[in-house]
Amino acid sequence: MSPEDQISAARLWAAYSYPYLASALFALRVIPDNKVNQIAGDEYFRVYMNHDSTHDWPVDALGVEMIHQVGHLLRGHAPRAREIELRESDLFRWVDAMDAELNDDLLEGHPLPKGSALPHELGLPESLLGEEYFFMGTIRSETQRDCGSSAHGNPRPWDEPPPKQGKDGVSAEEKELIRQRVASDALAHHRNHGSTPAGMLRWANSLLTPQVDWRTELGAKLRRGIAEITGAVDYSYRRPNRRQSFASKVILPNLRAPAPEVSVVLDTSASMNEELLADALSEIDGLLSTGGIRFESVRVFTCDSEAGSPQKVRKASDIQLIGGGGTDLSQGILAAVQTRPSPDLLLVVTDGGTHWPESPPSRTRTVAVLVGEDPPSTPDWLERIVVREPASRNRDWAAK
Ligand SMILES: [Zn+2]
Repeated sequence: MSPEDQISAARLWAAYSYPYLASALFALRVIPDNKVNQIAGDEYFRVYMNHDSTHDWPVDALGVEMIHQVGHLLRGHAPRAREIELRESDLFRWVDAMDAELNDDLLEGHPLPKGSALPHELGLPESLLGEEYFFMGTIRSETQRDCGSSAHGNPRPWDEPPPKQGKDGVSAEEKELIRQRVASDALAHHRNHGSTPAGMLRWANSLLTPQVDWRTELGAKLRRGIAEITGAVDYSYRRPNRRQSFASKVILPNLRAPAPEVSVVLDTSASMNEELLADALSEIDGLLSTGGIRFESVRVFTCDSEAGSPQKVRKASDIQLIGGGGTDLSQGILAAVQTRPSPDLLLVVTDGGTHWPESPPSRTRTVAVLVGEDPPSTPDWLERIVVREPASRNRDWAAK
């Protein structure tokens, strides 16, 4: 069989056996290269193959190598290696760990990529993540396998230069599209046939429903809110500039930023997760102070079925949590927006089990900070952030 025919047959076998990987498999470009021992990949969906070593391999043996390379690329093993600043001296151990993660997902009866590690060879059970195999696994010394920079990001002598404008390799954008496509194909395959391997399913789910860290989201919303109010984004037209009468009829923007008024309505009904609530409050405290707002200038309204009077405290942990009954935060929101000066930014910290006003306060940007795993829906006018237990770092890794 010519190298081309052998590669086509292997690719078809792989796409037939693992249909949800088809869009990735057909994006692979196979490059003949005698510097490679057998087969290795790079980060641009290029697979370098030494035909002298592989010419007599059965179709399925070559097919699983292509599936394996696609696995390294889809799971982001190279960026994950960069994240832990992998050293060249740990490279074989890293490849074994990543291979153990991938080999979980081969269907029964299919050959393993030659010399690739299985979880039990590293002394660990199946279904763990590569990083767990890497940090907790035993070292396999008798076999060394280098799958290429696709697996670890360290350049190899056979790697071609990065592709230019998407030619001769897959660009970062295309790679992302392929990953999204494979992830949704894997989920669809599971819905229709129920036979997508567990690790693949976990990867696809975490890619398509990313767990955004609530701190990042909350920080972004507060910073933007503060910036808009203080005019860091735009000049403020709220107060006429005093030079205006000398200049023209055009209203000049005022260059002095008004200090934003920030209020917090805090749900003190019995159902709140106290630990998460404390996390959320201390995060708000920190974010406001980096935005130049001292917490003591913030009015805090505790509220269960009725609103308490506003508290001004030096730090979030000084807030007196008064209440504990049922919840009607619309009372607290009303109290907050009716207090003068009315708030520019209102943070409503709650588990979400409450009535909400039907329409937004007219001059106040209102953000619901929802504490708990699966909070109820909120009105469309309300911005919302869900504060939940931190997604494990492993999930973040798996999503890359
Ligand atoms: Zn590998």
